[in-house]
Amino acid sequence: MAASSNSSLSGSSVSSDPEDYQPPIWKSYLYQLQQEAPRPKRITCPQEMESRPKYYGREFHGMISREYADELLVGAEGAYLIRESQRQPGTHTLALRFGHQTLNYRLFYDGKHFVGEKRFESVHDLVTDALITLYIETKAAEYIAKMTTNPIYEHLGYTSLLKGTMVHRLSRGRTEPRRVTFQRDERISSPLVQRTALKDTPEKQCFYEKIHNFKVHTFRGPHWCEYCANFMWGLIAQGVHCSDCGLNVHKQCSKLVPSDCQPDLRRIKKVYSCDLTTLVKAHNTTRPMVVDMCIREIELRGMNSEGLYRVSGFSEHVEEVRLAFDRDGDKADISASAYADINIIAGALKLYLRDLPIPVITFDLYSTFIQSAKLPNAESRLEAIHESLLQLPPAHYETLRYLMAHLKRVTQLAKDNLMSSENLGIVYGPTLMQPPEQNALITLNDMRQQKLVVQLMIEHEDVLF
Ligand SMILES: [Zn+2]
Ligand SMILES: [Zn+2]
Repeated sequence: MAASSNSSLSGSSVSSDPEDYQPPIWKSYLYQLQQEAPRPKRITCPQEMESRPKYYGREFHGMISREYADELLVGAEGAYLIRESQRQPGTHTLALRFGHQTLNYRLFYDGKHFVGEKRFESVHDLVTDALITLYIETKAAEYIAKMTTNPIYEHLGYTSLLKGTMVHRLSRGRTEPRRVTFQRDERISSPLVQRTALKDTPEKQCFYEKIHNFKVHTFRGPHWCEYCANFMWGLIAQGVHCSDCGLNVHKQCSKLVPSDCQPDLRRIKKVYSCDLTTLVKAHNTTRPMVVDMCIREIELRGMNSEGLYRVSGFSEHVEEVRLAFDRDGDKADISASAYADINIIAGALKLYLRDLPIPVITFDLYSTFIQSAKLPNAESRLEAIHESLLQLPPAHYETLRYLMAHLKRVTQLAKDNLMSSENLGIVYGPTLMQPPEQNALITLNDMRQQKLVVQLMIEHEDVLF
């Protein structure tokens, strides 16, 4: 149940001494309370009611008064019935006995039964869950309010992983952003700092923050919160579950969990269309392997190819490369013997970037970049783009930096490949930047700026990144 044995955690660089590891002590107080909670007792109506909706059973009593319902339920904790409202005929009320009083809830049905957020297959399930919740939240209100103050989270290794992360991040996380001053008298295209040929970054680990991908979850069988170690009570929707790393916590605890999600490779099914940060965290790389591998292959044998990135590869072969990455990850074969035409590899790289659920230039920052490009003054334009770049999520920033350095090298061979920074801006603008709302008119209006942003990032790659 605990996510501590998760392979991606043990594969991390942080050496947590196994001797130090203490399995968490699950706290059973709330579990015991759930066992003690009153059980539902259905109070049936002695006669068949004609007005009974077909989705209710004999617990439906028709249009009886609030007082009469109270009389029928009195003395039995957990007793319940459904009545039709006298004031608003056609609407239904669940009358439930709890804490020596009758509680009345407006009851709804739309294929499932509900009085609040949670939806149930049957009224019986709804009442069971309501009784557990009422019982626990009445008996243990103070305990619940305090349960998050002493988390066990670090015992599971997450916090120690984070501590290690912080240290590393200070020393060598994202490349220290250079403060660039754009001076009026200085030619912005400063002498090219020719980077030595691409080499794999020696450090394989990356320490990007990633938020958990929590979704409300129904647990089968008893489950304990991996943040506070307390039981997750209720019949359904007892807590939330991270679909990337498998962490299970209370809804209220999820707000306190740090952004240290370490996706489990077994849960990340695909490479294409997977969130960029999630992919690099799962594979423990600095950038998506598709980007590194395709660029390496192109630099090896395609830099002089005429119309590189503009000429499309045969789309069925591009699709094959996508499937190979999805299936084999960094073992995918994209060598010349598998795909002689370099445009297929270039196409696969563009497809990867275009299919990201959040583009490399994120939806959040899209208009910031577009506005930067609209500035009339060349220096303030570059300054604004530089500022915008610094706001990108680190994994996005690193990917963009690497790609721009590569595209710059492509333009240096423009006399062979005929690809200028402007041509590449046309190709890569809409690949790297997509407006948050898909709107043909916006897209058309922004095309000029999209092109310009990419063109400027290529031309001034050495000062911008
Ligand atoms: Zn997670
Ligand atoms: Zn919790």
